[in-house]
Amino acid sequence: MSFVTGLQCRECGQNYPQEPLHVCETCFGPLEIQYDYEQIKKSISREKIATREHNLWRYRELLPIDGEPRVGLYSGFTPLVRAQRLGAALGVQQLYLKDDSVNHPTFSYKDRVVSVAISKAIEFGFDTVSCASTGNLANSVAAHAARAGLDCYVFIPDGLEQGKIIGSGIYGPKTVAINGNYDDVNRLCSEIGDKYGWAFVNVNLRPYYSEGAKTHVFEIA
Ligand SMILES: [Zn+2]
Repeated sequence: MSFVTGLQCRECGQNYPQEPLHVCETCFGPLEIQYDYEQIKKSISREKIATREHNLWRYRELLPIDGEPRVGLYSGFTPLVRAQRLGAALGVQQLYLKDDSVNHPTFSYKDRVVSVAISKAIEFGFDTVSCASTGNLANSVAAHAARAGLDCYVFIPDGLEQGKIIGSGIYGPKTVAINGNYDDVNRLCSEIGDKYGWAFVNVNLRPYYSEGAKTHVFEIA
């Protein structure tokens, strides 16, 4: 079950149903997920969350999926690391660093956003997931797509260093190098998403994708 009531334009406030949309038709503003927070308040508590598995889905009432999560069962719940010496240098008595570099499976905070976007892509019925990326995002999309058994295309600028491509390549996506910079790749991906009906985690699924980032803050709180 979901507490999502729909999408809303951040600029003009126009409402949209829960679909793979990311831009307002009227003003081109970004769309954001809307929740019924009153109902959420009645359903969860800090105690209830504390009893759950140590992954980002422990906050699932505050995430935009309807059914069970499909990927990301080991993503999130990264440690707070006490930084005593840095704290002393800064004059802070209790300083902790949230270390998202140990996220599963690709050691990047992108595993949070991609877990949510791909779980949602499966709910929407997409069989192909994709992204425009300069490295970390491609790794994470390729890894989660492999886990879910989805076709995966990653689009990268053609000047990208080999080391960054290998991280995605091991998961077997179809990698397409575009002659241009990241903005060129991104623009092309918007057109490809429309033409082929693919889920681009950071284009047509961006509102869902962005929600995954909140879990970082929930964990700190
Ligand atoms: Zn608008």
